[in-house]
Amino acid sequence: MAASVEHEFRGPRRRLVEMLHDQGIKDLAVLKAIDETPRHLFVPTGVRHRAYEDSALPIGSGQTISQPSIHARYLELLKLTGNEKVLEIGTGSGYQTALLSRLASQVFSIERIVELLDKARETIRQIGARNISFLLGDGTLGWRQYAPYDAILVGAGAPEVPKTYHEQLAEGGRILIPLGDKEEQTLYMFTRRGDELEKSEIAPVRFVPLVGKYSWEAM
Ligand code: SAH
Repeated sequence: MAASVEHEFRGPRRRLVEMLHDQGIKDLAVLKAIDETPRHLFVPTGVRHRAYEDSALPIGSGQTISQPSIHARYLELLKLTGNEKVLEIGTGSGYQTALLSRLASQVFSIERIVELLDKARETIRQIGARNISFLLGDGTLGWRQYAPYDAILVGAGAPEVPKTYHEQLAEGGRILIPLGDKEEQTLYMFTRRGDELEKSEIAPVRFVPLVGKYSWEAM
């Protein structure tokens, strides 16, 4: 990564990391990944000055980049050690993809909107992460070719867990998914124990809808 890109916004980024720590995020690897990832490059130039606020921001095509505290929470819950293969549904801006690339060994990320995927790919190229594979398509189908995954992160809300995720999850692996209606959801973490998924409720959240064969229909 070019030195100028790394140093820009360093102060605001450090303050964001301190705030997340004060909010209870304790995983040092997660805090370090956020400290070293230039979130301002993943948001449109018009909202760049707000990149290190703890808020969701518009990224075009009617979609949003989630607020940093949500990403931090997601990543902390997964307890990644650096050896995992993870599947991300809803690349969006690619910011979470970049964080994951620092915390896992291989990242597979699916996005259905070509403009967002192209932009995310370009930003990721700019910051130089290499262990990421992208796919344009319906993420509710998963990505069978590289299964099983140690973790599946869904960045959009669904009515229920698509059965493909259970099928493509490794034993002991985790799924993080917001479940509910199109406006409001609850974030759940599921852990695979044989044929069962052990369920734990995390927090109320608001995500854009997951649109695809095993979720909401496109409008
Ligand atoms: N973590 C991303 C979240 C982006 S919003 C970020 O912070 O930038 C959720 C994304 O999921 C949107 O880009 C939306 O287009 C995408 N999405 C919705 N349904 C999808 C599907 N079935 N397959 C792949 N991506 C999907």
